[in-house]
Amino acid sequence: MESEERPKVISSLSYAPKIAYFSMEICVEADIPSYSGGLGVLAGDTLRTFADLNIPAVGVTLLSEKGYLYQELTEDGQQVEKPYQFDPRKRLILIAKDTTVKINGNEVKIRPWCYFIRGVSGYKVPVIFLDTNLEENGEWERTLTSYLYGGDTDYRLAQEIILGIGGFRILKSLGFTSIYRFHMNEGHASFLTLELYRRTKNVDFVRRQCVFTTHTPVKAGHDMFSMEKVKQFLGEFPDEILPYVTENDMLNMTRLGMFFSHYINGVAKKHREVSMSMFPHYSIDSITNGVHSLTWVSEPFQRLFDKYMPGWRQDPYILRSASGMPNEDVWNAHMEAKRKLIDFINEKFGENFSYDKFTIGFARRMTAYKRPYLLFYDRERLLKISEIAGGLQIVYSGKAHPKDTEGKEIIKRIISAGKNLKPKVNFIFIPNYDMNIAKMMVSGVDLWLNTPRIPMEASGTSGMKAAHNGVPQLSTLDGWWKEGYIEGVTGWSIGDEDQESDDLRDSRDMYDKLEYRIIPIFHRFRDRWIDIMKNCIALNASFFNTQRMVEQYVLNAYFL
Ligand SMILES: *Cc1c(COP(=O)(O)O)cnc(C)c1O
Repeated sequence: MESEERPKVISSLSYAPKIAYFSMEICVEADIPSYSGGLGVLAGDTLRTFADLNIPAVGVTLLSEKGYLYQELTEDGQQVEKPYQFDPRKRLILIAKDTTVKINGNEVKIRPWCYFIRGVSGYKVPVIFLDTNLEENGEWERTLTSYLYGGDTDYRLAQEIILGIGGFRILKSLGFTSIYRFHMNEGHASFLTLELYRRTKNVDFVRRQCVFTTHTPVKAGHDMFSMEKVKQFLGEFPDEILPYVTENDMLNMTRLGMFFSHYINGVAKKHREVSMSMFPHYSIDSITNGVHSLTWVSEPFQRLFDKYMPGWRQDPYILRSASGMPNEDVWNAHMEAKRKLIDFINEKFGENFSYDKFTIGFARRMTAYKRPYLLFYDRERLLKISEIAGGLQIVYSGKAHPKDTEGKEIIKRIISAGKNLKPKVNFIFIPNYDMNIAKMMVSGVDLWLNTPRIPMEASGTSGMKAAHNGVPQLSTLDGWWKEGYIEGVTGWSIGDEDQESDDLRDSRDMYDKLEYRIIPIFHRFRDRWIDIMKNCIALNASFFNTQRMVEQYVLNAYFL
C-alpha cells in the first residue's frame, strides 16, 4: 500500500448477528478476487440469500488481495499465473478495530475490512475480510492474507489460524456477543472450535454452537497438518481430543470441524453417502447446494421472469410456473443472451462464431476428475457430429491450481485438440474464468456439459446456473444431477450411475446422446427444445436455488 489514498473507516458496526459463516473464500463481487471457484461462489450466494431473507448473519474470510491467480494462456495453451492487485481501500470499508493471534511465537496483528451485501429488500449482511498486511507485522506475516490457496504448508497452516482463531477474535472485538451458530464452510476454519473449547473445556458447549459442511470427496480437499507443526504454530493443543482428530500424527481439519459440530452435512444426497463412508463415525445429513437466482439469471431472462412471474426475485419458488411462458419470448431471451456471449468471443478474440450454430459450454476448475477432455476423446466422431449438426461451437474456460501439473497439461491438450477441429468446429478457450465469464457462458450456450468421474463431484453448481437461464445440461450422474435430471425432460445423462466411470464408454454415450437425441431436437423440433428449456426453469431453478438451501440450513442446522 504505497499510495496516500486513505480508506473509508468506520469505528464499529451496530449489528447483532446470530450466525457467523466462515469460509476461506467468499465471492462478494465478480471482480474482487477473494474466490477461486465453486466454493467461494457458493459462499457468496449463501450470504446474498441471508441478506434477501433478513437473516442476521456475518461472513468471515481472508482478504486475498492478490487473489487465487490471474490466468493468461500462451499460444500453445500453457497457463501463466499472475497475481491480482486488489486495493481494498477502493471497495471495502475499514473497521477501526483489531485483534492479534500468535503464530509460531510471533504476534500477528489482524485488521478487519468490511463489505455489505444488500438483499432484495435492503437488509445488509456484512462480510469481514481479515488483513495482516500491516507495518507492525513481520515480513512473512504481512503476506499471510495475500494469496488464496497459495504458498506452502506452513503458509496454509498460518492462514487457517488467522481465519479460524483470528476470525473468531475479530467477531469478539466487534462486540458480536449474540452469535449462537458458527458455520464452517469446509475445514479451513476449523481452528475456531479450539478457541471456543479453550474457554470452557466443554465439548458439548462447543458442539451446540458449531455446524460443519463438507464439500468434496477429493482427498486433497481435506487439509492435514503434522501435529508437531500445529503445536509449534499454535503453542498449545488440547491433548485429550487428539484421538478424534488426528491420523498418524497428522491433524485432519475436517475431523476437527466434525468432532466439534452438532450438525454436519454433505452438499447433495449422493455426497452424503460418500461422506459417510469417508467419515463412518459421524452422522452426516445432506443439504443440496443451490445458486442465488437473481445473481445467476441473465438480463434477458430477468426481464422475461419479471413479465410472466413477478415476485420471483423475492421468492424463486415462483419459477415453478415457467411452463406458462410463450415459447417465442423464451427463445428470444435465449438468443439475446447467446448473442452477447458470441459477440464477446468474436470481438475480444477475433473469432468467427455464429448465432445459429449449436453451442456447447464447459467451464469449471481444470482438474483431472472433472474430465474436461472427454468431449475431445474421439476427434473423428466429433467432426461427424458437427457435420450432421451443420457446424458445432465449443466454448471452454477454467483455471488449474498452480500445483496441479496434470490440470495444466489438460488445458494444453484441450487447446491443441480444439485448434485441430478448426475450421469445421468453432472452438475457444476463454482465459481467466471468473464469475462474469461464468454468467455469460451459462446463459449464452445452448447446452451445458459436465463430465465428472463418479463419485468425485460433491454437488457442482454451474449446471444449476445454466438451468436458471433455460440451458439444459448433459452430465454424468454425479452430485446434484442425480437429483435434478429427468432424462429428456430437464436434460440428459452420460453413462451409468452404478458403474465406475470409464472414458471410452462415457464418451461414446455422450456422442450418441449429442448425435441422436440432443442436436436433432435443437434443430428440428424447436418447440420441444423450448419445452425442455422451460422445464429447466420450472423443475430445477425453482428448487436448486440458495433460498431453498438456506431455509434448510436454518431449519436443520441453525435452529436445531
Ligand atoms: C459456479 C462456478 C464454479 C463452479 O462450477 P462447477 O461446475 O460447479 O464446478 C467455478 N468457478 C466459477 C467462477 C463459478 O461461477
